Amino acid sequence: MKKTESDIETKLVRGGLLRSAHQETSEALYMTSGFVYESAEQAAAAFREETDNFVYARYGNPTVSMFENRLALLEGAEACKATGTGMAAVFAVMACQLESGDRIVASRALFGACYVILTQTLPKWGIDVELIDGTDLEAWATALQTPTKMVFFESPSNPLLELVDVAAVSQMAHAAGAMVVVDNVFATALHQRPLELGADAVIYSTTKHIDGQGRLMGGAVLGDQTFIKDIFTPFYRQTGAAISAFNAWVMLKSLETLSLRIEAQCASAARIATMLAGHKAVKNVRYPGLASHPQYDLACKQMSGFGSIIAFEIDGDEAASYRVLNELSLIDISNNLGDSKSLACHPYTTTHSSLSDEELALLGISRSHIRLSVGLESGNDLINDIEQALSILR
Ligand SMILES: *Cc1c(COP(=O)(O)O)cnc(C)c1O
Repeated sequence: MKKTESDIETKLVRGGLLRSAHQETSEALYMTSGFVYESAEQAAAAFREETDNFVYARYGNPTVSMFENRLALLEGAEACKATGTGMAAVFAVMACQLESGDRIVASRALFGACYVILTQTLPKWGIDVELIDGTDLEAWATALQTPTKMVFFESPSNPLLELVDVAAVSQMAHAAGAMVVVDNVFATALHQRPLELGADAVIYSTTKHIDGQGRLMGGAVLGDQTFIKDIFTPFYRQTGAAISAFNAWVMLKSLETLSLRIEAQCASAARIATMLAGHKAVKNVRYPGLASHPQYDLACKQMSGFGSIIAFEIDGDEAASYRVLNELSLIDISNNLGDSKSLACHPYTTTHSSLSDEELALLGISRSHIRLSVGLESGNDLINDIEQALSILR
């Protein structure tokens, strides 16, 4: 029987391909900000959106379109818009529809910059924000007794890999009239599919695993036609969240190797998490693929793989954490993640340093936590490096 729907690996290589008249094999990079028209009438029709001409690269560009179409195929979404950074995606998805007096409920365990938007920027504009413990379904139920416009969460969260039950929260959110937006950066579309679980929109920092080689910034918002075309795009076009054609082209090519890279990174991460869990100098390890993760059952239910990020707490204070980080010789100290190079950081004093001690305590982030983003080096070399760094604690 002829198969009509291709597998994800095929979509990642071929999806969205738009060949020019030259019939190039590799996707073309259209470095152009403007586009010309055959006539003044055609220009006018393009501005009335009656044709599918490209108009201006702030609105769209053929290379960016290929990237968006490939991402949409990967996610199983009707539509996608790519943005200049992940934060541009997060901010635009909120700013395009929230008004003064609206309410947003979010899980407290968030990427640092998302936390600042929710606790400082949106409240300044009269938007009511409630942050809750996203792992607690009763907390969601209580918060969603009040009519709510948007629910926002990360799962797994940065840096402690807490999970939110996407299906259960989506159901409660819809009953409260809220749209559900999921930051799916840590899981990637290969291992978690929020739209299938009931969410309405998904956002990415494509800076992370999608570029995957630590080169450039990018982001994306995916959802249904009505949201992306009628609500998100008009805001995006006028406010300048667009990604550059060059960045979109690099990431379009990166998607071709995404599944190979993610599978290799996740396999090493699982080995490292198991090693850390049995190590005397480590107090605890958070990795969704370990049976000791407090939400391991949920991880198995809603994820098909467990990611490349691990958090662990060493048996020692901040100075000891710094000593371990400084002792690493292969793994670099960096706050970035999802790179082919393995990277480690001390979240308390870097990625989450804009939070107060009280907020950090509420999130369970301690001065002994180290976050590790597992790259593409040999798993044996990574394990040796971590073991030799931890050995200074004896
Ligand atoms: C990095 C990151 C972002 C922000 O993306 P940028 O590309 O840095 O703007 C948002 N959410 C999560 C979970 C991230 O890891």
